[in-house]
Amino acid sequence: MENKQKQKKVVKHKKFKWIIAFEFLILFLLIGAVLLYQMKGNDQGLKEDNKAGQENQDIEEKDKELEKLTTQEREALKEQERLQKEAKEREDLIIQADKLTLSYDYDGAIELIQSYQGSEGGYEIYPILVSAIERYKKEKESLVLYGGSYTSVTQINHIFFHSLIADNSKAFDSDYDSVGYNMYMTTVTEFKNMMQKMYEDGYVLVSMYDVAEQVTLEDGTTKFVPGKIYLPEGKKPFVLSQDDVNYYDYMDGDGFASRIVLDENGKPTCEMILEDGSRVTGPFDIVPILDAFVEEHPDFSYKGAKGTLAITGYEGALGYRTDDPTSPTYEEDKEMVRKVAEALKANGWDFASHSWGHKNMQAASMTLFKNDTDRWMEEVGSLLGPTDIYIFPFGIDIETTIGEYSSEKYHYLKEKGFNYFCGVFKDPWMHIKDNYVRMTRRPLDGQAMLEFPERLADLFDVPSIIDPERPAKNW
Ligand SMILES: [Zn+2]
Repeated sequence: MENKQKQKKVVKHKKFKWIIAFEFLILFLLIGAVLLYQMKGNDQGLKEDNKAGQENQDIEEKDKELEKLTTQEREALKEQERLQKEAKEREDLIIQADKLTLSYDYDGAIELIQSYQGSEGGYEIYPILVSAIERYKKEKESLVLYGGSYTSVTQINHIFFHSLIADNSKAFDSDYDSVGYNMYMTTVTEFKNMMQKMYEDGYVLVSMYDVAEQVTLEDGTTKFVPGKIYLPEGKKPFVLSQDDVNYYDYMDGDGFASRIVLDENGKPTCEMILEDGSRVTGPFDIVPILDAFVEEHPDFSYKGAKGTLAITGYEGALGYRTDDPTSPTYEEDKEMVRKVAEALKANGWDFASHSWGHKNMQAASMTLFKNDTDRWMEEVGSLLGPTDIYIFPFGIDIETTIGEYSSEKYHYLKEKGFNYFCGVFKDPWMHIKDNYVRMTRRPLDGQAMLEFPERLADLFDVPSIIDPERPAKNW
């Protein structure tokens, strides 16, 4: 008897188990159906997004593959793909940040990583991102002020050039202006040699704004202070500028670029007019040559800095005759200058006023000085965008004082927004005052190479960089 009762109990128990199992099965099927319905909906959305035929085909094939899988397998696969995609995003972000550190922008790299937002949360929950930041912080700690090469920003070199000679046979053809070119211009070959040598010696391009920066004090007033440029031990910051980037009429046919244009990728390059009147584009002047050099050697530039382009106004700007409202291409030329200027700024270049009429501004009357400044702002500044750098024509400062600027001319420029003033001198020289910055520049032209090679001895051994096609001193 007892045995039979026991058996009955077992049977009852078994029946109960089956019912539970059956209910679970129904539940699973229901959940599965709902998930399948949702996924189909998602797929439909995807299909609508991807209009390209090939992509549609790929998705259809993938759908077919997916249909063979169980719901759970499908879910797991989708999850895997999502995880892989996000992991790839993080790897790409590190590649991008690493690139910034090549030009010593560790703060930028850290900020970029910290801006990451994954589906699980911010950068701090992803070990790969946290360790990248730790690596950047460690590398940043190894940098030293001014690369340890200088104790003060006033020792930083500011070198300058005019338009480069791209075709020596045309510039040095013994006609009336070839002596001027021999004195004041540098050839493409020489410029490339100089940059290569400076790069090998540890020089790094910085901008005027890195050398001295304007800070706002607690009481709301502003003040210029020396910039804190941190570089690896042994590196030497330097500033570069180029004067008269106007491609004047007198240079036509003498082997110079004719204007700055944008290439098919929207990058600045130069145009040159050949003897038969045809136009060719290529690296015929500083901008495209230096851009290419920095692209190849990102460690030659601090945070992407390139140089300052000083522009006059009496023959337009950058090779476009925007000074002449009667020109049939007046409006489109103005539009091109705006576009080229934007592209240059995006590539690390700054602009400076080199005055409108290129006159000796120390000797100029106050009336001429005011008119010239206003005209530059209206005709040139309006196209290039705001700038606060003024590079004196002929390198002649508005004042001879080595104390503090106090002249009416200085106050007028200051009123118009100018803060940085550049003259010419054989050695680095700089003043950082509360209200302005004054920095002289060293010419690296034919006169410096042929007449005063000893002045360049700290930078290069002149015979090793001079163009063999340059004539001997002939003035
Ligand atoms: Zn000039």
